[in-house]
Amino acid sequence: MNANSVYLHIPFCRHRCAYCDFNTFAGQQARIPDYVEALQREIQALTAGAAERLPVHTVYFGGGTPSLLPISAFEQILTTLARGFLLSPEAEISIEANPGTLTADYLQALRATGVNRLSLGMQSADPGELIFLERQHHFEDVINAVTWARQAGFNNLSLDLIFGLPEQHLGTWEASLDRGLALAPEHFSLYALTIEHGTPLKRQADLGLIPAPDPDLAAEMYELACAKLTDADYLQYEISNWAKENSNSPLPTSHSPFLASQHNLQYWRNQPYFGFGAGAHGFVSGFRTRNVLAPAAYIRRMSLTAAPLEFPRTPATVNAQSIDRETEIGETMMMGLRLTREGVSDSRFQARFGVTLREIYDKQIDKFVAWGLLEWADDHLRLTERGYLLGNQIFSEFI
Ligand code: SF4
Repeated sequence: MNANSVYLHIPFCRHRCAYCDFNTFAGQQARIPDYVEALQREIQALTAGAAERLPVHTVYFGGGTPSLLPISAFEQILTTLARGFLLSPEAEISIEANPGTLTADYLQALRATGVNRLSLGMQSADPGELIFLERQHHFEDVINAVTWARQAGFNNLSLDLIFGLPEQHLGTWEASLDRGLALAPEHFSLYALTIEHGTPLKRQADLGLIPAPDPDLAAEMYELACAKLTDADYLQYEISNWAKENSNSPLPTSHSPFLASQHNLQYWRNQPYFGFGAGAHGFVSGFRTRNVLAPAAYIRRMSLTAAPLEFPRTPATVNAQSIDRETEIGETMMMGLRLTREGVSDSRFQARFGVTLREIYDKQIDKFVAWGLLEWADDHLRLTERGYLLGNQIFSEFI
């Protein structure tokens, strides 16, 4: 049986950043105690409907700002998860943290709960860029957070950075990368800024108050990052993600590195995950599930006594869409081809779907291999370096 992953959404932030379109809310922290209670009820409701205790190998607290939760919330939620699921003793347990919300004591206590991976939203080392993004932290907060996390025993840290900001220069981007590299995290996630509908940034762009992002410059920034991270011995394993190899690891390094985000690999391999919390998505037993968005509505739904629902639905579920084989194949390709080292394994594909990649995608494979955008590495079909920047156009021909 495939091991599962668990995602828990924490939809609270102190302030909404100018570019953010995630399901998160400022000024609602007073709801946190009820929300933590509701999360536990949702876990219990789901696991009560399962035929057996299902194995879980990764847990991810995302947001929002999970580091706004008190330590007791992590203790309670992890205890509830361990009761309802077969939680692996080696499980990767990650939280996203906003550097301005952390203290040395908090990180010590957090590590003691069993959380073993931190993903810090650094975004930039440039004070002007942080103000532009309306981030509520300074780069010094990132330095402190990394120092305290190391003292607390965290040995799996990730930094998130954003590039392609209006008026960002190659020089400030390189300086942010250098300052991030100097902190020696195990992992980097680097994202190009996209101006999303409904955000303050979109309104500023529509009013002509900020210049439109320059895609050519963003591509140069991406290429610069690829070169610098490779020079610093990070392995790129996904279009936007890099990880250090663990020299003590007995695992082979030919595909995704040992310190890759095991939780995100679950998504890219199109493997099952449960989503708990307001707006959380899941992919379980052939269903894609989606929860009610608003924290108040989520808390209300989970506080009512309801008759047991058919697995994997819970009272918070507002949509459970059955995924047919053809859709699952397309999604497996679209997500798997993002993995720049392992891509999609033909043997795993055949074991899962009963056909080879060539039996379904012969024409697409021939075309993109001839154009130098896809390649075979043993039995893995993957993007070439030239293909990284054209990923979306390539993926669209596999769905
Ligand atoms: S901290 Fe993250 S989730 Fe919260 S508003 Fe900013 S970008 Fe969005």
